[in-house]
Amino acid sequence: MSIRILSSEVASQIAAGEVVERPASVVKELVENALDAGAKSISITIEEAGRRLIEVADDGSGIPADELALAVSRHATSKLVSAKELFSISTLGFRGEALASIGSVSRMTITSRVADSATGARIRVEGGQEGKVEQVGAPVGTLVQVENLFYNVPARLKFLKSDTTERRAIDTFITRYALAYPDVRFKLAEGKKVTLQTSGDGDQRAILATLYGVDTAKQMLEVIAEDEGLKLTGFISPTSVTRSNRREMTFFINGRWVQDIPLNAALTQAYHTMLMVGRYPLAMLFLDVDPEAVDVNVHPAKAEVRFREQDKVFSFVQRAVRRALLAYAPVPSLPPTTLWGSRPSSEPKELGLDWKMAGEVESEKLQVEGKPPATDTKSPPSTFNLPLLRLIGQIGATYLVAEGPDGLYLIDQHAAHERVLFEKLMAQHDKRSIPSQSLLEPVSVTLPPAQAALLGEQLEALNHFGFQVEPFGPNTFQVRAMPTLFSGSDASSALRALVEDFEEDESPLQEELEARIAARVCKRMAVKAGQTLSSDEQRALLADLENCDSPRTCPHGRPTMIHLSVDMLERQFGRKGPR
Ligand code: ADP
Ligand code: MG
Repeated sequence: MSIRILSSEVASQIAAGEVVERPASVVKELVENALDAGAKSISITIEEAGRRLIEVADDGSGIPADELALAVSRHATSKLVSAKELFSISTLGFRGEALASIGSVSRMTITSRVADSATGARIRVEGGQEGKVEQVGAPVGTLVQVENLFYNVPARLKFLKSDTTERRAIDTFITRYALAYPDVRFKLAEGKKVTLQTSGDGDQRAILATLYGVDTAKQMLEVIAEDEGLKLTGFISPTSVTRSNRREMTFFINGRWVQDIPLNAALTQAYHTMLMVGRYPLAMLFLDVDPEAVDVNVHPAKAEVRFREQDKVFSFVQRAVRRALLAYAPVPSLPPTTLWGSRPSSEPKELGLDWKMAGEVESEKLQVEGKPPATDTKSPPSTFNLPLLRLIGQIGATYLVAEGPDGLYLIDQHAAHERVLFEKLMAQHDKRSIPSQSLLEPVSVTLPPAQAALLGEQLEALNHFGFQVEPFGPNTFQVRAMPTLFSGSDASSALRALVEDFEEDESPLQEELEARIAARVCKRMAVKAGQTLSSDEQRALLADLENCDSPRTCPHGRPTMIHLSVDMLERQFGRKGPR
């Protein structure tokens, strides 16, 4: 095939692909434009996760009628004049590509009015074809409506993820910007349902509260640091508030949310030794640097930046965060012993009860049903998975020592107990007979919109596990009952930890999801390392473990035991093998 110049239609669709990847990228570009226009109020409406409609209305400066056609053409921008300015950008936009790109892959209508004009103007662009500019009545500001995104690029449509995932990307974006621009009133609606609203009164902590709930917002630590032209402000979580993923670690650089940056490493380093492995802080940090010291023009969607003095910025951020952490907790606090938030360490006795309870509850239930239990704790232990073990004792209040026909076993009491509880809980679950207990007072829990949407989808699964959780206003849920296994624990942190698990996987299979909920519950309820167990408790745990289908690993896949075989012991002591 000979070389040809691409038609302008194809060329612009290719260019659009770099800027407009999914509905959230449209939202991002339009909101950035509104902020650049000095809007004090931005209202976003989406339908069908943005596939059918994305609408962004602002009260910013507006676009003069005679510039409307220019605004939608490629490389037309009011924000950049010379190439030199590229190295000192202080606006969010500068490429002059967004509106043209969006217009080439959707049906876009822009209605706008500037303050010194009596009427507004409107332009329609359909698949890159511009219509005529018409005069219309309109408030000062700009309204951009994007309908049927990718209607003319079916390949793109095919690559979109589920509505949940696309919506979550939008929620996440708006949430971040609402926090970063507390003086701007944000409103996000999905259809008629408002999912996020901020007051624009500048109170960041109030916004944190609408996102994470009042409790978490109160605990967040403030960071303020300034040094040699670098300024860091924002909020970080104390070591007691953590997540299992990095999703809540957010950096804004000169007002722009930047995702791929080494600064995340600076942040985690600041928490070094203060968090358990696999736990991450929540952070919302705003770094202001001289626009000339940072290159924002390295990524089409402007999601990456490059610093001129990378090391200096890195160590500034790390020190500033560390200092904030230490200022609030002069003695580095020990990492929480559970993933369920801080809980006063319980008496060993009480915990002994906990793990017996699982068995008791089950056998009670089974008696009522009058059926022989599937895994009767009294049935002879299966020798298929584990041999009969003779308990020797407990060491370090953490491991059980036992002897089997084939050597010595060291058993991690926490991991082993997790396994035992997990199999019991799954068995109860299969019979739809998980005992549930009503809370004296329902507890309401507020989550960030993206998490709330996820939880909303899994309510049924949760309710099968003995929870009774109901929607209770925007992004808020009410917990009325929890599994009996949970009794005494904090409903709000339990629910939050579960949602974090849902976040780990985009579309967990229902079965996996349920196993994961169960694994969570068990982790919370299992005896911990460091708890002395009575010999009865030790024996019961061992017997329960012998009865498990997969006694050798905990529900998270870690080993429950180490086996030192007779053969290995003999070799180690030089009784066997070459002398
Ligand atoms: P960029 O933001 O990179 O300049 P865009 O294609 O996003 O490019 O927008 C083109 C131009 O249209 C902007 O430079 C700005 O002048 C104008 N514009 C776009 N959106 C708005 C808005 N919401 N309010 C005022 N002007 C806008
Ligand atoms: Mg723009």
